[in-house]
Amino acid sequence: MALILEYYPARSRYYKRIWARVKSGVHNQVRFLTFDRKQYQSDYNKRSEIKQARTDRNLETKLLLFSYLGGKCVKCGYDDHRALQLDHIKGNGSKTRKESGLHKNRIKYYNYLLQNPSYTLEEIQLLCANCNWVKRYENNEGVLK
Ligand SMILES: [Zn+2]
Repeated sequence: MALILEYYPARSRYYKRIWARVKSGVHNQVRFLTFDRKQYQSDYNKRSEIKQARTDRNLETKLLLFSYLGGKCVKCGYDDHRALQLDHIKGNGSKTRKESGLHKNRIKYYNYLLQNPSYTLEEIQLLCANCNWVKRYENNEGVLK
């Protein structure tokens, strides 16, 4: 993953944070660009818009995936996306998610599922929060009774 280091002014906390990650070897590629103060300023002024756009985009991704999976709880038919959850049918969710290497980023994981429809339809179902917890208790998936 390439990082744009020179984009931030030196000695800013972003610069320091990124540089620390480069030194620690997390990122092996760094792209050097000249710092553009005007661009930086305009991005800084638009930061709430940028954040909002990202939130909207993430919600879109989530809704797209949910509609692909039927858009409602497979057990009771509840269809409010705020309380719908992805359930791994075989109950090995955290393990397979870790193996895919995408366990730290929900949206990347959603995109991964959208790009692998055969895997998704086979392994994932949509459950509402209630049905999901009930299933977890019944199958004893990491829940102490
Ligand atoms: Zn349900």
